[in-house]
Amino acid sequence: MTDENAQGFDTLQIHAGAKPDPATGARQVPIYQTTAYVFRDADHAAALFNLQEVGYIYSRLTNPTVQALADRLAALEGGAGAACCSSGHAAQIMALFPLMMPGRNIVVSTRLYGGTVTQFTQTIKRFGWEARFVDFDDEDAVRAAIDDDTRALFGEAIANPGGYVMDVPAIARIADAAGVPLIIDNTSATPWLVRPIEMGATVVVHSTTKFLTGNGTVTGGCVIDSGRFDWAASGKFPSLSEPEPAYHGLRFAETFGPMAYTFHQVAIGLRDLGMTMNPQAAHYTLMGVETLSLRMARHVANAEKVARWLEADPRVDRVTYAGLESSPYHERAKVICPKGAGALFTFAPKGGYDACVALIANLRLFSHVANLGDARSLVIHSASTTHRQLTEEQQRAAGADPEVVRVSVGIEDADDLIADLDQALAQAAA
Ligand SMILES: *Cc1c(COP(=O)(O)O)cnc(C)c1O
Repeated sequence: MTDENAQGFDTLQIHAGAKPDPATGARQVPIYQTTAYVFRDADHAAALFNLQEVGYIYSRLTNPTVQALADRLAALEGGAGAACCSSGHAAQIMALFPLMMPGRNIVVSTRLYGGTVTQFTQTIKRFGWEARFVDFDDEDAVRAAIDDDTRALFGEAIANPGGYVMDVPAIARIADAAGVPLIIDNTSATPWLVRPIEMGATVVVHSTTKFLTGNGTVTGGCVIDSGRFDWAASGKFPSLSEPEPAYHGLRFAETFGPMAYTFHQVAIGLRDLGMTMNPQAAHYTLMGVETLSLRMARHVANAEKVARWLEADPRVDRVTYAGLESSPYHERAKVICPKGAGALFTFAPKGGYDACVALIANLRLFSHVANLGDARSLVIHSASTTHRQLTEEQQRAAGADPEVVRVSVGIEDADDLIADLDQALAQAAA
């Protein structure tokens, strides 16, 4: 194969991580629907179990179809390695697991997916982990929240649902100064719109459920490592730098260098947490990724057109989309996501909460679902659904105010989407 580093995004999204199947010549990545793999002999088995040789043992750890997807996503994000898992939420736990211990904390943006806010405020407490929520636009507050027990910063490049764009390079500089990794959830942006690793992020997580698969068929997640963090420098990351008892005292950082974190994801994370992606899911996502750039271009073009139309409509109070000049994040978006500010935004129909409910009830082309990043256009009232577990203060901080609806603009004809919004707004006003 030619040098993948030199290839463009559109080539990588089709070819990275895959070559004709060595056994059959199959051109498309086969769905390796198998649990286990035959060892050549006892020595081969022992070498695999000792991590002295890379290969397939059991599909809770690795599977060739899932591996093709992991390698492709690593290539698209410009990372050294990646591990796929069963959902975006699994990816977040997987990403933190090698870094954390009871008593440690992460400093996270207030502008996060609702489910992530709940995972970070409630569930991770059971592990003895703490998340400190900070406005990532307030760099002094971010620095002030970091202490000796902080093991990562975490934020979303483009945050769903508030039309927020994070200053990734600025936050990466703070993480570097503190000697901790920056983890970016790049789900809403995709690597086609935002390049977190090139902007200094250490790790990228995805819900592959969304734009990467692109058609609302399967849940999945992925953790991609830049391969650039020195895990042994500070003594803060013993899981990666100290001897691992389950592998005869092997030190991941020393043995695997830039692949240390990714090998840990598989050899410890998937082995013991078991949040495995199945090969069918990997297949659907591989099919989706092949057209990622084409779809994202259309998603963004449609989102801009629909957002502009809504902003100009007298039945609408405001539209929160960084692609509009009226957004406080418009200038930042030109730097962080020059190809477009994604396909998610919120808008407030005049008439508050009741108007939101009436609008959603009358939309025909937009589906009322708890998902985003589908080829079809979706709508939801975040405050009563995805962000329901949050306090009103948290909802407003996340951009999910009670009087706004969120749309995920699909790749249909923009004029048809506008016509649907037009008739639903008319009904909501009546
Ligand atoms: C959907 C989503 C998640 C969670 O992913 P699942 O696949 O649903 O577990 C995390 N972050 C963002 C930004 C999301 O949109």
